[in-house]
Amino acid sequence: MTDCIFCKIAAGEIPAAKLYDDGEVVVFRDINPEAPIHLLIIPRRHIPTLNDLTEADATLIGRLYLAGQRVAAELGVAERGYRTVINCNRDAGQIVFHVHMHLLAGRELSWPPG
Ligand code: 5GP
Ligand code: ZN
Repeated sequence: MTDCIFCKIAAGEIPAAKLYDDGEVVVFRDINPEAPIHLLIIPRRHIPTLNDLTEADATLIGRLYLAGQRVAAELGVAERGYRTVINCNRDAGQIVFHVHMHLLAGRELSWPPG
């Protein structure tokens, strides 16, 4: 999709602090971090929201978690812990309509979120 900021980041057309890219999944730092570690984990393929997933995307969504697990270990936060969140549509505060998983770590995170 030509007008999507995360498609452009995946394609290298917009700079981002990338930590991982296996061709299918890209991990980069959030530009406005809400925690000492705040990563965004995206499929390279443009999928607007969780509502647009199909059965064919089941493995891809699993790969988002595996990429998060890997980068969390590399950054040394796997044992202490981290949180993964995917916001879907307005009530959850989704502002970029390319599916992305937030990975937050590096401080104690309150629960429930606001
Ligand atoms: P959402 O609210 O849609 O779940 O989260 C979108 C996230 O994308 C926000 O945390 C925001 O800071 C981040 N973001 C928006 N634009 C950019 C950008 O151009 N680069 C990076 N690295 N993060 C972005
Ligand atoms: Zn996109």
